[in-house]
Formats: sequence, structure tokens, C-alpha cells
Amino acid sequence: MKLTELGYNTDFEKYRKKKDLDNFAVGRVIAEHKERYIVKTTQKEYDAEIIGNLRFSAQSRADFPAVGDWVAITEYDEEKALIHSVLPRKSIIERQAIGKQGDKQIIAANIDYAFIILAVDRDFNINRTERYLTICNTANVKPIIVLNKTDLTGTAGLNNRITAINERIHHIPVFAISNKSRKGIKKLQAAIKKGKTYCLLGSSGVGKSSLLNTLTGQPTMKTDTISEYSNRGRHVTTHRELRVLKNGGILIDTPGMREIGIADSASGLEITFDNIIALSRNCKFSNCTHTTEPGCAVIAAVERGEIDKALYENYLKMDRERKHFESTVAEKRKKDKDFGKMLKCYKKGKKSP
Ligand code: GDP
Ligand code: ZN
Repeated sequence: MKLTELGYNTDFEKYRKKKDLDNFAVGRVIAEHKERYIVKTTQKEYDAEIIGNLRFSAQSRADFPAVGDWVAITEYDEEKALIHSVLPRKSIIERQAIGKQGDKQIIAANIDYAFIILAVDRDFNINRTERYLTICNTANVKPIIVLNKTDLTGTAGLNNRITAINERIHHIPVFAISNKSRKGIKKLQAAIKKGKTYCLLGSSGVGKSSLLNTLTGQPTMKTDTISEYSNRGRHVTTHRELRVLKNGGILIDTPGMREIGIADSASGLEITFDNIIALSRNCKFSNCTHTTEPGCAVIAAVERGEIDKALYENYLKMDRERKHFESTVAEKRKKDKDFGKMLKCYKKGKKSP
């Protein structure tokens, strides 16, 4: 197996040269479990850990390797390796860490394309699709829409769904498929590019596992156990979360990817709702929230029917959430800063400021 087949390219190679990493082997993280990593190289799959220095210099969780990362490693035993550094990421899919407001957790790195899956049945939901689009735009991942379960509707029903998508979402490819009847699968497979990394996004029940099985030709991920290793006396089983498909595409599917959703769309709004953003330049007030202000170009466009009302409402909702999230982050930063100041004063023997 060549590194390019795992997704390696000249950008990563340039960085490796620049950082003088010639004495290291390069591999890709294909699974992670409690700070243990499976790293795949051209030769083999290593059970790897990060070196103490990397742990020590890490500013946050984001500095630790994630599935999809390219890492510089050294072998220290037949199948064991140490990770010395993480190569800069081309894209990052992240989510707000559970329990810690404002904290982020990297789900996967270096993904080129995301299949955003929605189903023709009751799971057909364009608001949600716009959210996943925004996650892609935030992450620097190119979206591809996959309309699944087309076996559950006739031609007219399918066309209605596709028209509904096209009314709100532009310039993004849409593939209509069925895992059941296999319709459209060949066309989708043909669109998957060699050496490019893909992931599956979409809410529960839309058919992500089914598509994964269709694409990998394997029944379930659970059968795909890679290595069992002893971690502090406990036996842990890890699954491959990054796999090379038959036609050469690479697919990442991590448990975290399944949980990503609704709250994790932050700054990509400008791209998803580019028509609203473009209009907002004509609003009377530069800080217009497009809700109640006079002279709002966005509201005017909605009233004229030039902007879809549902799209406009979805934008407002997501923008509110973004502001809420940003203020939570700001608050947390301030708290951390105040605490830092307090510590400093304490060390100097002064009273708090
Ligand atoms: P996930 O939660 O997104 O991983 O969805 P699953 O792959 O588990 O699928 C949810 C349900 O939808 C299962 O019962 C699947 O058998 C079913 N399903 C998946 N793809 C199709 C399809 O193309 N057509 C039909 N009729 N059912 C499907
Ligand atoms: Zn406005």
C-alpha cells in the first residue's frame, strides 16, 4: 500500500520536509481509543502512543492526534510506535465537548468530502441538511448530498424531494440512492475519488450504516476488529475507523461522527446562507439582525418571495445558536483568564485584583 492510497499528498509532504521530519516514518491514524492510536503506514499497522513531549506541549485536546491525522512516528518494537508530531490538518470536524461548555473535541481530521445523507421518508428534513452543510463549511469539507431510501417513493415523489432540495440548496451535487434496491449506487461509487477521504453525516435512521456496508461490501463494522491490546491491565478492542474502499476512496466513520449534529454548526453559516449574507449588505443598519429592524434587505427579500421563508427562519435559528455558543466561549475564556490572574497575584503574595 502506498501512502497516497491512504490519502497522503504533496501538501503533507511539503510540511514533513519543512519540519525536518526525515528521520520519522509517516502514517495515518485509523483508530483512537483513550489516547492509544492505531497508525497505518505503507508497511503495517502500529499500536501507538504519543511521546511525553507532545503531551506536555499540548495546549488543548485539539493538539492530540485524531482519526484521519497524519503523524510522524518511530517504531520501538515490532508493532509499536511513538507519535512525535501531528502534521497540520487540511480540515477538522469537531463538536462541542460534552459537559464542558465552549470546549471542542476533534472528531476527525483531513476529510475531503462528506456525504450528507437524508431519506425520502419521514427523515426528509432540509433544515437539518442545512445544518450539516454548515458543519461542512465550518470544517472545510466539501459536501455531497445523498438522498436515500428512494425505493420508498415513486418517480413523482422523488422529483418533489429533489425539487425541494434544489429550491434551498444550490451548487451542491445530489445523488439519489437506495441501499435496498441498489438504485443509484453505481453512480455514487463512480463519483468517489481515489485517495480522497470521505465521511458520512446525517441523523439517526437515514441509512448511514447501510451505506457504509454498501460501500465497503462488509456486513457491519463490529466484525472489523483490528487489534486487542492491554491498556493498564485491561483488554481493549478497537475498530478500524478509517478504511480504504475497493475503488480507492477512503472512508472515515467514528462513533463521534454519529453524534455530531445539530449543535455543532458554528461559523460556516456565511457559506451555507450566502444569499442572505449578500443581501444583508444592503440593510440600513450594519448590525442588523434581520428580525425587526426597519430597512432590512433580508426581510424585504423574504416578503417579495425571493428568499425561501423556511430557509430564512432556519438561518435565524442557527445564527442565534452560534451567538449563544460564542458568548459561552468568551465567558469561559474570561473565567480562565481571571483565574490565571488570581493565581499570579497569589504567587506574588498579593491580594486578588
Ligand atoms: P443510520 O442510523 O443512519 O446508520 O441508519 P441505518 O443504516 O441503521 O438504517 C436505518 C433503517 O433504515 C434500517 O432499518 C435500514 O434497514 C433502513 N434503510 C437503510 N437504507 C435503506 C433504503 O435504501 N431503503 C429502505 N427502504 N430502507 C433503508
Ligand atoms: Zn437586515
